[in-house]
Amino acid sequence: TLKNPNEPEFLQAVLEVAETVIPFIEENEKYRNKMLLERMVEAERIVIFRVAWLDDKGQIQINRGFRVQMNSAIGPYKGGLRFHPTVNLSVLKFLAFEQTFKNSLTTLPMGGGKGGSDFDPKGKSDIEVMRFCQAFMTELCKHIGADTDVPAGDLGVGAREVGYLFGQYKKIRNEFTGVLTGKGISFGGSLIRPEATGYGVVYFAQSMLATKGNDLRGKTVAVSGSGNVAQYAVEKATQLGAKVITMSDSDGYIYDAAGIDAKKLAHIMYLKNELRTRISEYVVKYPKAKYIAGAKPWEQKCDVALPCATQNELDAESATALVANGCICVAEGANMPSTYEAVLVFHDAKILFSPGKASNAGGVATSGLEMSQNSLRMSWTAEEVDEKLKGIMLNIHAACVKYGADGNGYVDYVKGANIAGFVKVADAMLAQGVV
Ligand code: NDP
Repeated sequence: TLKNPNEPEFLQAVLEVAETVIPFIEENEKYRNKMLLERMVEAERIVIFRVAWLDDKGQIQINRGFRVQMNSAIGPYKGGLRFHPTVNLSVLKFLAFEQTFKNSLTTLPMGGGKGGSDFDPKGKSDIEVMRFCQAFMTELCKHIGADTDVPAGDLGVGAREVGYLFGQYKKIRNEFTGVLTGKGISFGGSLIRPEATGYGVVYFAQSMLATKGNDLRGKTVAVSGSGNVAQYAVEKATQLGAKVITMSDSDGYIYDAAGIDAKKLAHIMYLKNELRTRISEYVVKYPKAKYIAGAKPWEQKCDVALPCATQNELDAESATALVANGCICVAEGANMPSTYEAVLVFHDAKILFSPGKASNAGGVATSGLEMSQNSLRMSWTAEEVDEKLKGIMLNIHAACVKYGADGNGYVDYVKGANIAGFVKVADAMLAQGVV
């Protein structure tokens, strides 16, 4: 706390890992007194820079750009870029720290990083977004590279932004390499990358339910968010026979008792991805559904909850409501959407609960597959990538069970994910010496 004042998100993420990893370190001679966790919480490098750009009125705008290069023990730094007004060092350090464990869990050779800017893409013209991305990359390009640090998208950074960022990197560096993932298919992107995080969350939830002899068929599912992760979580859950009753954005949520089927989801994708408008517009086309302003979906009765919007969007009160309404499984699609207190509620109730670093790792895993395809100068079919994604999610689930099962049929996925993620990074750091 003294070293990192005013960084509540970062401290929250570290606390959650420390609680489970410190006892493990104490029990294992190999890791004891090596200052491993102490080293992991200190970023290897952080770059903070000015981003100056011209808006459509010809006015100069100034934003702050960041790249947190957290840990490169097992591979090049890897993690997304977030463009959102709430971006600050605390948020990016928490994300980069989580990313290190998540990337380790994927079994692919990727270190941890995260970056972004306090730039708000909402309400900006396409040209303004392009100018901002070019200005941002003009500085960032000095610090990244296909074998050094490979950024990707995150909140506010989708296919459009990745395209502009990649174009600027290529222009300045005069090289066509896999320096970013989440690229368009025509210039090195991987099939299934847009779907991967949402699909992966649902594959992971299936594995969790299977430990109880259960599955998603016939289940009622509450989803939050309506962005990339939420959209494909809804698609896959519906394909597997579940009924999704909610989606949301930062203004409120929609409740559709009949279920958001493929046709309705296509309309949401049109509203959010093409028109870039609010989720409230859904009820204009589907008036039987309700729009509830200023609230979160967790007040609705559901069997499975998939929080896919943002950090700390599910608090203890919401967790208590979910449990009281009979929810049996919560799989995080977003990064740290449940507050520390909410996780305690899920653990006390002994329902199935998985942290984002395990259940949303499908996105970065498929980014890792995109890096492999770029290095091979090849592209795999959608079926090939989806099969690999399923295999990776199964492996992550197995790793969580290995380190998180209590022997009485209960799996603490937080403990399992933290320890499994820690072991690989720690082994690599020990092997590489004190550097
Ligand atoms: P998008 O920008 O595509 O969508 C984010 C969604 O969350 C939007 O619906 C947005 O609504 C909503 N949202 C943002 N802030 C809030 C808030 N304060 N309260 C309620 N809703 C909010 O992002 P992604 O879908 O890509 O990412 C969602 C989460 O998943 C993030 O935590 C991200 O870090 C994580 N993640 C994403 C991965 C990926 O591959 N995309 C991989 C792993 C994790 P609005 O339109 O109003 O802003």
